[in-house]
Amino acid sequence: MSKDTPISELAGVGKETAAKFHELGLRTADDLLNDFPFRYDDLRFPTPAALLAAPGDASEENAVGRVVRVRERRARHLAIVEAEIEDDSGTFIAKWFGRRYLLGTLKAGMRLFVRGRAQRTLAGAAMNVAAHKVLAEDEIYHGEVVPVYSASKSLASRKIRQVVQRNLPKLLELAGDDPLPPDLAKERGFAPLRESYRRLHAPQSPEEAAKARERFIFTEFLALALAAQLKRRQREAEHDAHVLRAPPGLLEEFERELPFELTRAQRRVIAEIWDDMGSDAPMNRLLQGDVGSGKTLVAAAAVVLAARNGVQSALMAPTEILASQHAAKLAPLLVPFGIAVEAVFGSQGAKARASAAGRLASGEAALAIGTHALLTQGVEFERLGLVVIDEQHRFGVEQRARLRAKGAAPHTLHMTATPIPRTLAQSAYADLDISTVDELPPGRTPIETYHLRASRLHEAYEFVRKNVELGHQAYIVAPAIDESESELTSVVAEAERLQKDVFPDMLLGLLHGRKTPREKDAVMERFKRGELHVLVATTVVEVGVDIPNASVMVILDAHRYGLAQLHQLRGRVGRSAAKSYCLLVYPDDFAEGPARLEILRRTTDGFEIAQADLELRGAGNLAGTLQAGKMDFRYGDLIRDFAVYERARSTAAKIVEEDPSLSSPSHARLRTLLDSQPSARAMLLSS
Ligand code: ADP
Ligand code: MG
Repeated sequence: MSKDTPISELAGVGKETAAKFHELGLRTADDLLNDFPFRYDDLRFPTPAALLAAPGDASEENAVGRVVRVRERRARHLAIVEAEIEDDSGTFIAKWFGRRYLLGTLKAGMRLFVRGRAQRTLAGAAMNVAAHKVLAEDEIYHGEVVPVYSASKSLASRKIRQVVQRNLPKLLELAGDDPLPPDLAKERGFAPLRESYRRLHAPQSPEEAAKARERFIFTEFLALALAAQLKRRQREAEHDAHVLRAPPGLLEEFERELPFELTRAQRRVIAEIWDDMGSDAPMNRLLQGDVGSGKTLVAAAAVVLAARNGVQSALMAPTEILASQHAAKLAPLLVPFGIAVEAVFGSQGAKARASAAGRLASGEAALAIGTHALLTQGVEFERLGLVVIDEQHRFGVEQRARLRAKGAAPHTLHMTATPIPRTLAQSAYADLDISTVDELPPGRTPIETYHLRASRLHEAYEFVRKNVELGHQAYIVAPAIDESESELTSVVAEAERLQKDVFPDMLLGLLHGRKTPREKDAVMERFKRGELHVLVATTVVEVGVDIPNASVMVILDAHRYGLAQLHQLRGRVGRSAAKSYCLLVYPDDFAEGPARLEILRRTTDGFEIAQADLELRGAGNLAGTLQAGKMDFRYGDLIRDFAVYERARSTAAKIVEEDPSLSSPSHARLRTLLDSQPSARAMLLSS
């Protein structure tokens, strides 16, 4: 047998069963070996009848006793078999639902093992039996620990268990070399690799299985933690970044040119960034701050420092709307500092592009603002020293690296409006330093949020009308562009309907990803100038769009979005002193109801929302809001297993401290480990 042996070649697996395994994603012997049980039923210790269903304990329990009597009960069409069972401590009732045939097998006087959830009733404990076994008169009861596997309707955990057990000796031979150095495994109290697999699939106790599981999770996390620390060390050991020093008084000079005062948080964060930029090791810093916290200004301060030291900057944003907004905002702000800005967009004509490229190559322009177009070959810099990436998670690892490669070891500032919870900051983002703008500019009133069922949509629209009549503007966001996209509300259809039936007297704009950049800009421009009352859009308005007069955001099919994304969408309003509102609409028949949306109603704190999102959906599901590729774990979950991660992190710190290049022979395995773990590889490759 090899790792790649098809599951169909294992003992006890026919063609049909193999197909059922495939449905569960299990195709090879190695898949099966690494399909860890998600639970263990511990059948070892019977609970005395008198102690069953202790208050607060809802787990399954075991009992062993003698059947006193058996009877049948009928509840509507369901047969219930009830047996009174007695042991030395007392009696309880065991119940089986819909298994009338047991009347023929269960007899008074028999010895019986039963397992199930028990409840206290006035008459004593009653157990809904999940499993039972008749015991011979002189049989000594030895319970086992039963692994329970993720199963499907057609393939029961019991069948998976049988196949694993039958093939276990051969499967265990596939274990191969331990990726952990033996000393380290010993120090952490882990059994050898093969024995660990055995303990997972056939443990003597759940504790033993848990420890075995920890070994695999620890190993995975160690790879990630090592990668983060190695990367950090390497960067800190580079001495080829531009040393950009802030002359005294530069911050005051910067602030004098602003129409408002910096918040305390902005000032602190600018100091952190300038400090990094003053070193010859390239900065790698993540700037996080809730929507509207004023990150753009912080980026401007970094650009000013770079320009003052004679190096150029590039700011890359994921959409033309955002990039052009940055350009419009930053250009006037930077004029007093003599910084010329060039825009580089995909929709730009060849002539405009050539002229922008020329001014960047000659160093005449100190700042390039653009989209992915910045990455194209014709765009070169004279002396690129600072790279700013807005909404960094929207770019791939490779794209970010390509922009950085246009300079020699440029300082890099990543920006995100999705707050990174502490757990992720210390793991998936451990290679970055993090600055947080944790304060909103003064004068904002918190956005009021409501959720309502789709049958009350007309109320939401009346509310929109009222606000428009007060001189404000509104966004209406829907998930799909066309009707063809299943049951989701389409912006095209909804915009038409609204114009015809709901707001015939108002000016509506339509924005979605299939419009050309020029069309998008035109619509945005009109909305910004107040020529449109309502903008009906997909989530292209999600990030960064800043139109202070907009005060209402209606989100249709709100249940389709993650909390973090809804929070970002909501951040399009509430950008002035005027009171703003966000209305979340979900289908009447949405089974979950508004429970999740309620979190948004309750709080506007992005960190709290990100944490809740993380807990509800798991780290792996945050793709789209967090850097993809960093969460590819086979066994572990950074949130659930964070305690294990912390142990792996301190182990990694010790290893890298002693052997920064992992070159000692005893660390050869760790180098292999780094190569084989997707999360670690992604960490090492990312920039
Ligand atoms: P973010 O990118 O963090 O979502 P922006 O940088 O777009 O936020 O800033 C949001 C709005 O707040 C902008 O209109 C900006 O001009 C304004 N702003 C930023 N900093 C301040 C400040 N210190 N005081 C007042 N307004 C500010
Ligand atoms: Mg922004």
